[in-house]
Amino acid sequence: MTLTDATHAPRLKSWVSSANSGSTDFPIQNLPYGRFRPAGTGEPWRIGVAIGDQVLDLKLALAPCPWAPGLAELLQPLADGDLNAFMVQGRKAWKQVRAALSAALAEGSGQAPFLERCLRPQAACEMALPCRIGDYTDFYAGIHHATTIGKLFRPDNPLLPNYKWVPIGYHGRASSIGLGGTVKRPSGQLKGAADAPVFGPSQRLDYELEVGAFVGRANAQGEPVPLGDAEDALFGLVLLNDWSARDIQAWEYQPLGPFLAKSFASSISPWIVTMEALAPFRHPFTRPDGDPQPLPYLDGDFNRASGAIDMTLEVWLQTAAMRAAGHAPVRLSQSNLSDAYWTWAQMLTHHTSNGCNLQPGDLLGSGTLSGPSDDSRASLMELSAGGKQPLSLPGGETRTFLQHGDTVTMRAWCFSTGAVRIGLGEVSGTIVG
Ligand code: MN
Repeated sequence: MTLTDATHAPRLKSWVSSANSGSTDFPIQNLPYGRFRPAGTGEPWRIGVAIGDQVLDLKLALAPCPWAPGLAELLQPLADGDLNAFMVQGRKAWKQVRAALSAALAEGSGQAPFLERCLRPQAACEMALPCRIGDYTDFYAGIHHATTIGKLFRPDNPLLPNYKWVPIGYHGRASSIGLGGTVKRPSGQLKGAADAPVFGPSQRLDYELEVGAFVGRANAQGEPVPLGDAEDALFGLVLLNDWSARDIQAWEYQPLGPFLAKSFASSISPWIVTMEALAPFRHPFTRPDGDPQPLPYLDGDFNRASGAIDMTLEVWLQTAAMRAAGHAPVRLSQSNLSDAYWTWAQMLTHHTSNGCNLQPGDLLGSGTLSGPSDDSRASLMELSAGGKQPLSLPGGETRTFLQHGDTVTMRAWCFSTGAVRIGLGEVSGTIVG
């Protein structure tokens, strides 16, 4: 099955010159959606499409520009700033609008004279969450993370017996999801060596590098989504930093799982890169020799042939002292989404397999996406071996967990031969007291 179309053609260029630089996250092959307004204006939020270092303002673009018949109706929710309402229209509409935006922004487009006036520099825009996030579920699909963390507690038997059979997850907190910026260190119950816990600021504050998937289509309660339909229910991907207080987590997590150790803040990148844009980076989903194949409800031809996505993921750190001394951020890890043990379709199908209803705008987290090597460990808990091996930083500092003023930045991009590189942009957060 061919997943790509004219919108992915590597030769395609835009009349927006910054989109053709080769290094931008947002070439014309990407076309991600974000919710924005001109900075400092207090104007209503609207949806825009990132193109190079510009945003195409779909509120401005709707009326003056000639669009093909039927397209204005599909664009209206975007002009209204309501991405959830756009999602409800379904994959056929998503593809139709992508094709129309691609044609309108392509070199030689007759719509260019109209749309030139609808561009704004990204630097002059403020961003909001891209949509209403009704529910948030965090999975645990990073098998290398699960193994490394498991080893800290069970050196001989790091993975629990269910891990290779069932996509593990828990219900997270949607209200505290934001775009990063400043993140306040949480306080909570901390249990040290003493008999009784104390209440105070977390001393073991960590990040988790994850990817988030936005659900785009609802399923009715009691009606599971079969794996063959799951791809049509997925709208797009963002970066997700699942901030985690390890000391609060260690004391509270048994028997019901994470609670206040996670719910104080989660941060996502502002641009949703659609599943359509990711088509050139699909590849086969396989299991290592000797591992069980998924149960039939989590197995299918498309999933085996194209379920995985090749996406490079990075975490960067800059401390307050590094910033003051002019030291650039340092890269802490590089890993890949294709190390996930489950595909997005499998996670969505499993989520609905008991009849649970998902809704447009629901967010699914992948779990911490570490790789197998030492430089691919996607949390400080792993990099510092549970706080026992401090990391050395430029300027002579060390870190086991995050300190005040530390800025954590995550980036992701996709590249493959015969396709133009696209990126997810970044999510950045600084710890404050
Ligand atoms: Mn997590």
